[in-house]
This record gives sequence, C-alpha cells and structure tokens, in this order.
Amino acid sequence: MDKILIRAENLKKYYLKTGFLGLKRETVKAVDRVSLSIREGEILGLVGESGCGKSTLGRLLLLLERPDSGMIWWGDRCLTKLSPSQLRFWHKNVQPIFQDPLASLNPRHNIHTIIREPLDIHKIGTKKERQRRVSQLLEEVGLSKRYETNYPHQLSGGQRQRVAIARALALDPKFIVADEPTSALDVSIQAQIINLILEVQERRGLTLLFISHDLSLLSKIADRIAVMYLGRIVEIMPHNTFLSKRHHPYTSILWRSIPILRKIEITPLGEVASPLNPPSGCHFHPRCHHAMPICKREVPILKEIAPQHWIACHLY
Ligand code: SF4
Repeated sequence: MDKILIRAENLKKYYLKTGFLGLKRETVKAVDRVSLSIREGEILGLVGESGCGKSTLGRLLLLLERPDSGMIWWGDRCLTKLSPSQLRFWHKNVQPIFQDPLASLNPRHNIHTIIREPLDIHKIGTKKERQRRVSQLLEEVGLSKRYETNYPHQLSGGQRQRVAIARALALDPKFIVADEPTSALDVSIQAQIINLILEVQERRGLTLLFISHDLSLLSKIADRIAVMYLGRIVEIMPHNTFLSKRHHPYTSILWRSIPILRKIEITPLGEVASPLNPPSGCHFHPRCHHAMPICKREVPILKEIAPQHWIACHLY
C-alpha cells in the first residue's frame, strides 16, 4: 500500500466573488497551497467544517476544475500539463460520488441509460456486452435488474445513491472521490451506503478520498485523515495516530466535539473566519487557545512530527 497513486503539489484555487450590486470583488481562497499524496488502495479521509475547501480540493484532484497554480501527478505523469483530449482519456481512471444523487443523475434518463452512458462515451464493448455490464453493476451495488427501466425520481434516496455508485464503477476507475456521499440520505440508510462503498473499495482495491465533516465517521473508516481549515491542510495523520494526544489545536476541537468522546469541553474562541478575508499567519489564530505572537505573523508549514504524522502549527 506504499505506492503513491495521486499527488498534489502546492495547489491553489481562488475565486473572485462579486459583492452587493456588483460593487466590490473579493477573492475566496478556496484551496491555498495544498500538497498531499494518496497511496494506492488507501482510504484518505478529508475532514473540515463547511466552506473550508474540501469539495474544491476533491474537484481539483478529479480535474473537474483546473487549479490556478500547482501540479497534480498521477504516478510519473503530470496531469495539469495534459491536453484536453489526453485528459478525456485519463478521466476513465477517476470518478466522483456526490452528495446528492438526485442532482447528479439525469432525470430524463432511465437507470439503464444512466449507468450505460460512460460505457457508450468511451466505446467499451459491444452493445450486448454493455447491456450485460449494466446488470452486473446493478447487482454489485445490491439492486435488482428490474430497476433498469425506472427513472431516478421513482427510486428512494438510498437506491439513487446505489445507482450513482454503479455508474461511478462502470469504467473500472482506480480512484474515487466520495464527497459527503451520505449527508443527503436518511440516517437509517447512511450506514448501508457507507458499508457498500467500503465493500466495493476493498473488493476492487480502489483508492478513495472520502470527504466528510464527520470526524467520528472518518476515524472508523479511513487509513489516514487529513484535516482542512480555511483552504489549508493543517494536519495529516495515520488512523492509529489519531488516538494519540498530539494534535493540531483545531483537530483537538473537532475530536472533542464527537459526542461520545466529549469528556473535556474545549470551546473554540469565536466563529469560523470567512474564506473571503482569512486571518493572517495561521488562519486559526483568532480561535486558538494556544495562539502566540508568531501565529499572527507567520504561516506555519506542515512538519512531520512522527512517522507520517504532519502538523502545521508553531507549537511543533
Ligand atoms: Fe494555534 Fe498558533 Fe498552532 Fe495556529 S499555529 S494552531 S494559532 S498555536
């Protein structure tokens, strides 16, 4: 499990946001100089509060959006230098599973057409083989063949997410980005969908970036966890390190907010700052109980404080 499948180097993605009446344009630093590697066959959990840039980072890694600067490597190929036609061919290797399956499935197509579409686009197999493949994919995600003629609105939320997973698997991808794949579903079926994703990941040896705001969930399913705050990665750690006492102060707050672990209440100071105008130095300093003068002035860089345990904090 040590071979790096995908590697991001210094990725930046900023958006210009126009204010009221189009008078003022401000920059949102959605992803700000992020570097990280994901190993073949691992589950990397990416956690952070809403608006911290996790979904943008996922979209950049899938090359659904181009970064403003920085590079993405797939083995020894630099993806950010590929032409659109080369990229189109490469896209077979990666697939997203989005939060809301109703929004991600074409409402005018039936389930058979939705799952078969990527096979048609990439001209894989004969017509008969593609039809057979659709049935196999439905079976793999626990749906019977009889759903092929249904439309997305005729299925439950959980069934729709199963269809989205089947479509994501159609081209035998190597890397999947699952972006909050259960947050739009009823609590009663969230566990079923998570178990399905984990089963498929293990059976196929997939590499998975699992994006969630739920640290408790990631602590159970991920091999490593990356913590993001206002566009930056502040900590990356292996699963077993997660239970140690040495953490970034922001991770400690996320960790102690898990209800079952809430033995010592540590309340962060203030609200999450806006990505439109993030604080200087360490973005977390206005909320941090350990903040020092240097924290306002200097951006902490990610340092390896133990094997594979990286923290961006002036305390370390
Ligand atoms: Fe807190 Fe300073 Fe560490 Fe930021 S760098 S988390 S402000 S101690």
